[in-house]
Amino acid sequence: MKKRILAFILATLMSFTLVSFANPKEKENPQPSPRPIIIQGAMDVETENLVAQLQNVEKITYGGWLFFKGTVDNYPVVVTKTEIGMTNAAASTLLAIEKFNPLAIINQGTSGGHDPALHRYDIVIGKKSVNFGSFRSEHSDYNKGIHAENWIPMDINVSVNGEIKELKDFEGNTTLIETAKSVMNTYKKGKVVEGVIGSADQWNRELDRIKWIHEKYATSVEEMETASAAQIAKTYKVPFLGIRILSNSEIHDEGYDRNSGEYCQDFVLKVTKKLIQQARQNKDFLQYKDESTNNTTIQ
Ligand code: SAH
Repeated sequence: MKKRILAFILATLMSFTLVSFANPKEKENPQPSPRPIIIQGAMDVETENLVAQLQNVEKITYGGWLFFKGTVDNYPVVVTKTEIGMTNAAASTLLAIEKFNPLAIINQGTSGGHDPALHRYDIVIGKKSVNFGSFRSEHSDYNKGIHAENWIPMDINVSVNGEIKELKDFEGNTTLIETAKSVMNTYKKGKVVEGVIGSADQWNRELDRIKWIHEKYATSVEEMETASAAQIAKTYKVPFLGIRILSNSEIHDEGYDRNSGEYCQDFVLKVTKKLIQQARQNKDFLQYKDESTNNTTIQ
C-alpha cells in the first residue's frame, strides 16, 4: 500500500513538472495558426476530390458561394467552389481573401486547348493569365457587319497599392510556379507545361477564332475564371497561381472529358502538399512580388 501511495505521489509530481516545462514560450504566446492555402474550382467535378481529401472539414456558405475549410497534412486548406464564370470567380475570391486571410490562392480546373501543341489531359501552369473578353472596336456604319477579328484588346483597370493601373495580364507568382514545377514529373496522364491561361465568359469552338485568340494573346488554353480571380488576388497582394488541365481541345477534336477534373485535382493536391512542406520549413518562403510588366498607371 505504502509503495502504491509513493508511486502515485511520484507520478503526480512528474506530470506537474512535465506540464510546467512543456514549451513555456508556447504557453505565454500561443502560435497563431498558419494562414490557409485556398484551392479554387468552379464545379463539383473540379472540387469534389479535393474536398474528400480534407480532414476536419467544415462547410461554410457566404452569399451563394461554398467554402470547405479543413486540413491537409494538419495544415489549413480551404477548397472553394467559385461557380462558373468571371463574376462568380471574382466574388468568391474576394470572400476567400476577406474571410480566410490566405497565404496563397491556387485556381485550378478544366479548360479548352488553344495551343496546337497541347492535347487533352495536358496541364498548364499559369505563367500568366489574361482576360481575353475585354475589347473595344473602332466606329463602323450600319450594314458594315461585325468583325470580331478587328476588335482591339482593352486593358483591365486594377487597384494596386491604392493606384488604379491598366494591366494587360496577371503574372503567376514565381515561387508558386517553381513549387508546381517541382512535382510535375509525378504527373502521368499527359505533359505539364508553363503557359498562358486565357479567361472570358466564352466557350469558343470556331477554329479561326481560337487561332486568332491564340495568336493575339499567346493563350495555351481558355476557361472562365482564372484571370478574374488573379485580378482580385493582385489587388490584395495575395500570391496566386492558375493550374489548368485540358478537358477538351477543339483543335484536335478531343471532346470534354469530366475525368480530367479529377486528374487536375490530384496534381494540385501534390502541389499543395509540397507548398505545405515549404511553408513549414520557412514561414516566409512565399513573398508577394509585383511581377506585372508593361503596365501603365492611369493619371
Ligand atoms: N455546365 C455547362 C458547362 C460549363 S463548362 C454546360 O451546360 O455546358 C464551363 C466551365 O468549364 C468553366 O468553369 C470553364 O472554366 C471550364 N471550361 C472547360 N473547357 C472550356 C472551354 N473550352 N471554354 C471555356 N471554358 C471551359
